[in-house]
Amino acid sequence: MRPYRYKPLSRLPEGSGEPRARVRSSLLPGATAEPAPARRSVLQEPVLVLNSTYEPIHVTAVRRALVLMLKGVAQMEETGPVRVHSAREALPVPSVIRLLTYRHIPQQTRALSRKNILLRDRYTCQFCGKQFSSSDLTLDHVMPRSRGGPTSWENLVACCYECNNRKGDRTPEEAGIQLERRPRPFTLHTSRQLMRLMGRHDEKWRKYLFY
Ligand SMILES: [Zn+2]
Repeated sequence: MRPYRYKPLSRLPEGSGEPRARVRSSLLPGATAEPAPARRSVLQEPVLVLNSTYEPIHVTAVRRALVLMLKGVAQMEETGPVRVHSAREALPVPSVIRLLTYRHIPQQTRALSRKNILLRDRYTCQFCGKQFSSSDLTLDHVMPRSRGGPTSWENLVACCYECNNRKGDRTPEEAGIQLERRPRPFTLHTSRQLMRLMGRHDEKWRKYLFY
């Protein structure tokens, strides 16, 4: 599989305009559902974040999770397999952390960005159904922009270059191709699906995500 390479390909900003909630609702770059990044640091490994009620709320990276723990905002619920060494001590790396005080998580809607659309579509071309790395995907306006198609969650999908060329300035019907599924906004439901996808191999996440 090809290593993860981020290359912005559209005019959409990368996650900009994302609301600055105290608990960031974004999946960090090191914590995507993208397949097989070549090699990443322990600090970028994904950590599941639970609300104080044990409800899974998002995924962050080890680095951020350690900061939350050191600040006393969160505590470790499950440890990962490795430790990180600071100047004075060896800290176990968390796999799951839990916030100590309850945070109200509003119905999550994310900023419309290239990254979030690729995440929602799981790095899968919505026309041929194959999975690609970020740099091999573009965004397609289902109803072409030239025909008044809006730049919205409902009209943008992840698309490989081949399908994008084949479709051109046509609707899927005109091009004789079909959408894998109807594009929807990024909701809490989408977040949860992604967390499940990321946690499916991790025994320590499973009990919080599959119930
Ligand atoms: Zn395709």
